[in-house]
Amino acid sequence: MDYNKILSDIYDEIQPLAGQGKQADYIPELAKVDPDQFGMSLETISGEMYSISDADVRFSIQSISKVFSLALCFSVVGDELWKRVGKEPSGAAFNSLIQLEIEKGIPRNPFINSGNLVVADILLSKLEYPEEKFISFVRSLAQNEEIDYCMRVAHSEREKSYLNAAIVNILKYYGNIENDIERVLHFYFMMCSVEMSCAELARAFIPFANHKMPFDYAGVTLTSSQIKRMNAIMQTCGFYDEAGEFSFLVGLPGKSGVGGGIAAIHPMRYSVAVWSPRLNDKGNSIMGMKALELLTTKTEESIF
Ligand code: GLN
Repeated sequence: MDYNKILSDIYDEIQPLAGQGKQADYIPELAKVDPDQFGMSLETISGEMYSISDADVRFSIQSISKVFSLALCFSVVGDELWKRVGKEPSGAAFNSLIQLEIEKGIPRNPFINSGNLVVADILLSKLEYPEEKFISFVRSLAQNEEIDYCMRVAHSEREKSYLNAAIVNILKYYGNIENDIERVLHFYFMMCSVEMSCAELARAFIPFANHKMPFDYAGVTLTSSQIKRMNAIMQTCGFYDEAGEFSFLVGLPGKSGVGGGIAAIHPMRYSVAVWSPRLNDKGNSIMGMKALELLTTKTEESIF
């Protein structure tokens, strides 16, 4: 497969989409990002890396961090997790409140905000130094010790966190949050604020693509079966109320974030990360979605 040519053809073919959509502005720091950037990196499980354009520029990974926090939580508490969070697609916006109230404080899945706030709460209860543990896990996955939180983005999000604060209050009311609400929000925003490039994200997702390889990063271990189950949740829940559309157009498990990044995997083949800050109205990167659709069209391979 000539991935260099495929990436360069994709780059040319997405150009007509330039200027469509806008970057997330409910987090003031994200509104400052130059929206007209695009990067893409693909790494095969045998370790070849292919990149194009702004693939080495770091950006706010936002909800892509939910894959890392789920992996950490799954490794610490195993199937106990599913007593407090479901594994069904929500069909609702990532920050929706309505479903949570109707379903009495049990979030549909760990990849929407409510579900990941519960994951954050579990990590706070179970780990002695949760912030240190989380970042060392991500650094180990990406094999890069320089990856870090961005306090500026985390604080900026806290200042305008009306919806997430409402969500965590509903969760607390229904008894699904053990820790102090402020601590849970702080840790959740910290995890969302991590900055990584496409190349770093592609590297960090290789262990999810290569699920037959032993998973042991910074002391965090998962079985092959647990990794496959995480991939199943990426497939069904990775794109909020656009999970069906992504499955239809792209056909790979993945996870998006409002920073404009998307990471996806082709099991036992490759991991891929794209980034472009302009989002559609569901909160997913317009150019990123198209680039991945073109990837599985041009390679004629998806998981289906
Ligand atoms: N930090 C963001 C929020 O909680 C993450 C949302 C996202 O990337 N979809 O609203």
